[in-house]
Amino acid sequence: MRPAKIEYRRPSSVAEAVQMLASSGGKALAGGHSLIPAMNLRLSEPGTVIDIGRLNELRGISVKGNILSIGALTTHAEIAASADVRTHCPALAAACGQVGDPQVRNWGTLGGNLAHADPASDPPTVVLACGGILHVQGPSGVRTVRADDFFVDLFTVDLQPGELITSIELPSLRGYKSAYAKMPHPASRYAVVGVCVAMEVEGSRCKQARVAVGGATSKATRATRAEAALTGSTLDEAALDKAASAIMDDVGDGGMGDIYADASYRRAMAGAYLKRAVRAALA
Ligand SMILES: Cc1cc2nc3c(=O)[nH]c(=O)nc-3n(C[C@H](O)[C@H](O)[C@H](O)COP(=O)(O)OP(=O)(O)OC[C@H]3O[C@@H](n4cnc5c(N)ncnc54)[C@H](O)[C@@H]3O)c2cc1C
Repeated sequence: MRPAKIEYRRPSSVAEAVQMLASSGGKALAGGHSLIPAMNLRLSEPGTVIDIGRLNELRGISVKGNILSIGALTTHAEIAASADVRTHCPALAAACGQVGDPQVRNWGTLGGNLAHADPASDPPTVVLACGGILHVQGPSGVRTVRADDFFVDLFTVDLQPGELITSIELPSLRGYKSAYAKMPHPASRYAVVGVCVAMEVEGSRCKQARVAVGGATSKATRATRAEAALTGSTLDEAALDKAASAIMDDVGDGGMGDIYADASYRRAMAGAYLKRAVRAALA
């Protein structure tokens, strides 16, 4: 299908992009690998498209002290290949390396992925489990949003009209045990289920754990029961069984399902992939 007619505009700065977005009520275009398919299917008819793809101020990866900072326009491929991301947030590098196919990884951006908030996307689950913070710029200025508060519902995030994600910050997880485990859809590679764990482990005991699940739920979701089951445990098989059962409770009965994988299957797989994520983190 062809998209509805649009007006195409290309700003030369973030400030100009925000002004164009606010005055037109249009949509930002980053890598285009979620927006363009949605426009082609006429699920999205933005009227005006503001192409932010050449705003280099939104690109790049840096580390300052204990904070890893990633510009919103940084692609999945750049994140997967970054030594800084591999050192400070290995689960994010691994997740971005498993997104779609090489074309999707080379065009799709972290900011676009988080803003789109597809329940089957990989980065939202990781950014949530790893305690990320999003920097946002809009008509009323700049603000920060915790990943815990950002994902509101299916394809719905805490962004007001005219607002752009400018960068994503993650605390360095160097010294933590973290991993992302994903069951990919065989065709699209989107997550049927994806689980991310980030654990502080002392000796063989888990001092604290953050866990998030995607694919099985309408949005990336903190798995607080699984976190409680892991925290204080020695991460042995009995503890993993408990945590797997707990994450199934976190997903609950109202999870996502489709013709490929129904809700009860995804819920069961959340338990299986939690175990895989913990084992990968410890390996
Ligand atoms: C075949 C295929 C397979 C895929 N497989 C996977 C997969 O396995 N895992 C996965 O995670 N994803 C997958 N994706 C999605 C892909 O990662 C997208 O690129 C990503 O979700 C969106 O990023 P984008 O830069 O392309 O955003 P765009 O498509 O340009 O934009 C998406 C939405 O975000 C908004 N937006 C973009 N940038 C910003 C910003 N900085 N601030 C505010 N709003 C913004 C846009 O206005 C739009 O509403 C797949 C896509 C395709 C086509």
